[in-house]
Amino acid sequence: MSIDFTVPADLEALRDRVRSFVADRIVPYERDPRLTQHGPDDDLRAELVELARAEKLLTVQAPVEFGGLGLSHVEQAVVYEAAGWSTLGPVAMNCAAPDEGNMFLLGKVADPEQIDRFLMPVIRGEQRSVFAMTEPGGAGSDPNQLTTEAVFDGENFVINGRKWLITGADGAKTWIIMARVAPNPHVPAGPSLFLADGDTPGIVIERVMNTMDRNYVGGHAVVRFENLTLPRSAVLGTTGEALRYAQLRLAPARLTHCMRWLGAAARAQSIAVDYARTRTAFGRPIGEHEGVSFMLADNEVALHQCRLTIWHTCWLMDSGDRARHESSMAKSYVSEELFKVADRCVQVLGGIGISDETVVEMIFRDMRAFRLYDGPTEVHKFAIGRHLLRE
Ligand SMILES: Cc1cc2nc3c(=O)[nH]c(=O)nc-3n(C[C@H](O)[C@H](O)[C@H](O)COP(=O)(O)OP(=O)(O)OC[C@H]3O[C@@H](n4cnc5c(N)ncnc54)[C@H](O)[C@@H]3O)c2cc1C
Repeated sequence: MSIDFTVPADLEALRDRVRSFVADRIVPYERDPRLTQHGPDDDLRAELVELARAEKLLTVQAPVEFGGLGLSHVEQAVVYEAAGWSTLGPVAMNCAAPDEGNMFLLGKVADPEQIDRFLMPVIRGEQRSVFAMTEPGGAGSDPNQLTTEAVFDGENFVINGRKWLITGADGAKTWIIMARVAPNPHVPAGPSLFLADGDTPGIVIERVMNTMDRNYVGGHAVVRFENLTLPRSAVLGTTGEALRYAQLRLAPARLTHCMRWLGAAARAQSIAVDYARTRTAFGRPIGEHEGVSFMLADNEVALHQCRLTIWHTCWLMDSGDRARHESSMAKSYVSEELFKVADRCVQVLGGIGISDETVVEMIFRDMRAFRLYDGPTEVHKFAIGRHLLRE
């Protein structure tokens, strides 16, 4: 087994290009009024996407056959951390959630016709996608509680149910919908994934929820499926296999969250370090007080540990390992640690830490949700514990 942490020269060059692009071109948009309470609006997103396209930095992670650079998981870790310096960086580069995970899933499971219709426009940055699983009172931490039902009559599926917390639903065109196929004589029953165009009658956006984060395009919506009628060709993969496909999507998707938030936490740390260097109290820069330097040191240790955890899990996945256990450890550890980093940065900044004088306040609020989605910390620890008992 070889262990080599060298970043190859071509990857280093790509990372540096992404760093400059995000710092110089994207950061100024953080004060744009089109960054609303419900995330960047579609107009802002389109403008950012065009900037990335012009720099050949759009959807670089996509497989080569779909026009991307076919980045490995480790390569994504390096590039997404650089993109995450601004929460708008991944939006511009089309590697933000949920599109990034959805593109990955569709690339693995969709058939050629579905790829043309539902995946390629997302890869080209022309339309957005959603993954609709979570339900009020139904699927959540435990996806087996899925209640949305698809009834197959031999020709069409008729879907009824209600979902919430569906990121980007308002305005998205490519929909991946999880529903339970009722027992029938034609196809396997059970949790299944369906593809639909966002304009299909029967998809109803009830409202966009008011949440504490604002980094996802379109925010998070409550949606209803009201006799949504889809043909047999709308099935993604095979009926009855949704939970397996969701796992396929989730392990890499939860890691890419870690990568992007690592970049955001590093940004918060750099702002806190600058402040600690220049702000004085009791006769010296505050960074020279041990209480502050220890907070900054704890941050530096956490950032380093998180990076190593992410890189190791990526390395396993690049070696063909599904790394489910390791990705659970990474997601639970990184989300908790990075949130503590952001919290300490707020503290170092004193009163302005809770104001929008710096971006640290937004990073802190946005990052809070990271401990919940793609598996709350406790659910990952529950899985890690079960894995240990099985071993
Ligand atoms: C910002 C954001 C974006 C999201 N985007 C999407 C999306 O695009 N599509 C989508 O389908 N969903 C999305 N979600 C939903 C997300 O996947 C769920 O919030 C998550 O799966 C948890 O489900 P729940 O909210 O129903 O929590 P619940 O299932 O109600 O759980 C509540 C709490 O119970 C505890 N808990 C649960 N199980 C265990 C256990 N086994 N052991 C110990 N404690 C436990 C945890 O602390 C958990 O936080 C999003 C959520 C957020 C916050």
